[in-house]
Amino acid sequence: MFFPDSNSSVKLGRSVIKDVYYFGESPMLDCNQFILVDDATGELSLFDSGNGISLKGLLEGMENLGLHYQKITRVFLTHEHVDHVLGLYPLIELLEKNPPTIHAFGETAKILREGNESKIFPGNLGINPATFGLEIIPLDIVDLKLDELIRIGSNFTMKVFHTPGHSHGSVCYYEETKKILIPGDLVFTGGSFGRYDFPGGSLDSLINSIKFVNDLDIKYLLPGHMNISDNGNQQVDYSYRMVQSIKSFF
Ligand SMILES: [Zn+2]
Repeated sequence: MFFPDSNSSVKLGRSVIKDVYYFGESPMLDCNQFILVDDATGELSLFDSGNGISLKGLLEGMENLGLHYQKITRVFLTHEHVDHVLGLYPLIELLEKNPPTIHAFGETAKILREGNESKIFPGNLGINPATFGLEIIPLDIVDLKLDELIRIGSNFTMKVFHTPGHSHGSVCYYEETKKILIPGDLVFTGGSFGRYDFPGGSLDSLINSIKFVNDLDIKYLLPGHMNISDNGNQQVDYSYRMVQSIKSFF
C-alpha cells in the first residue's frame, strides 16, 4: 500500500515561470510544494514533501501538467516539520527502485536521519504519525552545505541560506538570476511570517533571518503556506515590518 488512507483530492498545480511549478497546500496541515525541472534531463526536483496524505493528490496534479513522478530524483526540504516532511515516507516507498536523494540542512537533516518523532511533531499539536497513517523511520539524508550551489539543469542555480527562527535547521533556497526565493515557513505573503514558539524557534532569529532575505533581490516568493507572489520584495518587506512590530510589542 503506497498511500496512507485518504480521500484527498487532486493538488492543483500551475506553472510560475518556465520549469517552475507551484502546487498549493491542501486544507489539513499540509504545505505548498514546488517542482523545478532540469531542462537538460527532464529530472524533477521537489521542494518540500507535504504531509503524506496529500502525496497522491500531488502526483495526480503533476500528471495533469505532464510531470511524471518517476522523474523526481531529488527532494529538498526547508525544515523538519510534519507538514513539510511526512510525504517523504510514502514517496520513498513508491520510488523504491529508484529513490530520490533527500537534502536537508543541519538540525533538520539530523532529526530526519534519527527519525526523531518529537521534533517532526513539535509542541502539542495533538497529532502523531498514526494520524497520517504513517510510521517515522530513519532516513538517508544528504547534508546541504551553505556554500554549495545546487544546479538544476542549465536553468537554475540555487543557493542555500541558513535562516533559523521558525526551527533551528530552517533554510531558504534562492535563485539569483531568476529572483526566486523558497523560504519555507520563514515568511509568507500578506505580512505573515512563521511561528517561532516551537522548540528550536526564536523570535530574534526569525527577525534576523527575515532581515537577511529582505536584502535579496526577490521577484518570486514561493513560501511554504498561503499564496505565492511575483512581488517578492514588497511582500518580504511587509512581513519584516510586521515581525518588528511584534517585537516592539513585548
Ligand atoms: Zn514549520
